[in-house]
Amino acid sequence: MSNTPLLEVRGLNAWYGESHVLHGVDLDIQEGETVTLLGRNGAGKTTTLRAIMGILRRREGVLRLRGQDLLGLPLHRVAQTGLGYVPEERGIFASLSVAENLMLPPKVAENGMSVEEIYQLFPNLHERRTSQGTKLSGGEQQMLAIARILRTGATVLLLDEPTEGLAPVIVQRIGDVLVALKKRGMTILLVEQNFRFARKVADRFYLMEDGRMVNSFPGHQLDANMDQLHEVLGV
Ligand code: ATP
Repeated sequence: MSNTPLLEVRGLNAWYGESHVLHGVDLDIQEGETVTLLGRNGAGKTTTLRAIMGILRRREGVLRLRGQDLLGLPLHRVAQTGLGYVPEERGIFASLSVAENLMLPPKVAENGMSVEEIYQLFPNLHERRTSQGTKLSGGEQQMLAIARILRTGATVLLLDEPTEGLAPVIVQRIGDVLVALKKRGMTILLVEQNFRFARKVADRFYLMEDGRMVNSFPGHQLDANMDQLHEVLGV
């Protein structure tokens, strides 16, 4: 593995209006890694994903993907670099079927996964292909949201709490999907409260508090960091 990170975040500051939310965030992800961002509510995890993607525009610092500066790029150009963001609220079209959602924006790219590949990876979406978004379970909606981003050709996935509110059996299936994506070479930055789930997929963890990174450690050191996690996460 090369030492140059695929995604490089250095001293990232971000603001909502006048409210300064990220204070010098540093984060590196190597190609093919799955990295999990932990932190209690309001720590700045979602803001970090939004600032990387460029949805939140008021930012300063260094932000590079494959050495390319992202800060100056408009959102559609950021998406062309291979970054794909799945927000916590999922953003699927509720009135459209699964199949229709897979044919619609965000932009379906030539190098994006084909619908056939999507159905192989998510057999339940194939079963539900004619069902409307409103008829899908939370887990199916989450899988559809991830599938739509894969259609854009994204190879670096920013996933915001994909297991939020889902039953354990569905959480397990989302975990299986992430492992399958990792095997295909995808790079994943995952925001997750459920670190029992995250430990199965994460190569590394970052811990955030008050808009700053306060720790970072490899997945196998999760137990060794449990005291700090309990303290910072309040669990
Ligand atoms: P959660 O799990 O609750 O989403 P988080 O770690 O993702 O937590 P953020 O959503 O990034 O935290 O929020 C970081 C800080 O930014 C919080 O203080 C929050 O109140 C503030 N914030 C979030 N969204 C906005 C917004 N649209 N406008 C102003 N402040 C915001």
